[in-house]
Amino acid sequence: MMSQKKYMPLSALDNDQLWLFATILFHGQTSREWLTAKSPWGKTKTDLIARSLSDKGILATSTEESLSKGRNPLFYTANPCLGYFLGFTSNIPYDRLVLTDFNGDVVSRGEYPGSLPLSNPLTSLRRNIRRFAQEQQVSLDNIWAIGGHVPGILEDQTGVVKKVLRQPQREELDFKHALEEAFSIPVWMESSRILTCLKEYRFSLLESQKTFVNVHISLDVGLALFINGKSYRGADGFAGEFGHLSVPESQKPCYCGNIGCLVTHLSSWGVCADVQAHLENGTISQIDPRALQGPDYDEGIEHIIDLALQNDKLSINAVEEVGIKLGRALANVITLFNPELLIIHCRFTRAGELFTAPVRQMIRKYSVTQALQKLQIEFVPIVPYTVPQGGAILAMRRLIKQIAAERNIFF
Ligand SMILES: [Zn+2]
Repeated sequence: MMSQKKYMPLSALDNDQLWLFATILFHGQTSREWLTAKSPWGKTKTDLIARSLSDKGILATSTEESLSKGRNPLFYTANPCLGYFLGFTSNIPYDRLVLTDFNGDVVSRGEYPGSLPLSNPLTSLRRNIRRFAQEQQVSLDNIWAIGGHVPGILEDQTGVVKKVLRQPQREELDFKHALEEAFSIPVWMESSRILTCLKEYRFSLLESQKTFVNVHISLDVGLALFINGKSYRGADGFAGEFGHLSVPESQKPCYCGNIGCLVTHLSSWGVCADVQAHLENGTISQIDPRALQGPDYDEGIEHIIDLALQNDKLSINAVEEVGIKLGRALANVITLFNPELLIIHCRFTRAGELFTAPVRQMIRKYSVTQALQKLQIEFVPIVPYTVPQGGAILAMRRLIKQIAAERNIFF
């Protein structure tokens, strides 16, 4: 695949140029001072290489945010015209797609009927990608790599989803190889718990070498553990299946085959089902039961949050219950790993203290106190297209790392 014409601008670089370009890509907008300090060559040679990359149209330079004294540009980014990366999430009830440029900025986005509920999701996703590219008038030849997410249990070595969310009849799903065959573009698959992190924190946090935990709660529930800035994946790549920790006393069946998994209590569909059961038992509430029946359970959650903020008791209880179960499970994670930062991506963040207070309270109550001394907790709301954008950024990072590794340059 790397022999294709679109990869020529990078294959034509020498090792020093490639190192400098990749360093800028992974760092984001990069100042000349920072780059000089980071490079092994000193100021003159670093400037020379950067200038050769600008001349080739690979780097863009700007002086906007600078205290420039004139001649030399102070900031470097990738030239956005180089090409695109495509990110997708295949979900119920929609597939969401984005195109980003080399700097990870979204150029366009689109939503299409979901592939997962269909009997042939591979055909459907291929069709959606073709349609998206056509509508955006972007040739597939200008898309350098694809990165995506399917909710379920992912084997990261092969990119195969071993258990698809809420589809127990579907044994595994191999979007990676189906898309690579169809489009002749390299494809990488990743969990949403990693992709949200790439989108939000791709530059500052990943390069900081911090020990931190990123949790993502939506249709699925996952946790990524980063130790000294590197993600820890376990022996087979399944570490962080936080959603399948068992909740004591719970008997709810899970799509993974076990009972009482956290995901059946915290996910959008799990919470909608719990609230539905309360309504059926006669609990008085303003909740409209039709909003809870899917297939877009996230909309049901937004409805519950709206009513919780208007003081509907059942809705408040639902939000608090999620906070309590989540906080208690996270207390175990904190006691085990003593992270300095805990990031929680969750729709319920919008409910404010109704959600964050019980999470904090349970963490304080059940963690080993000494592991809390440096801990910062950051609550992030879920914004549509965060995951597919993370997919496109993942594709960029993996592709550049692969090209560099072929020349024995490692990041
Ligand atoms: Zn499970």
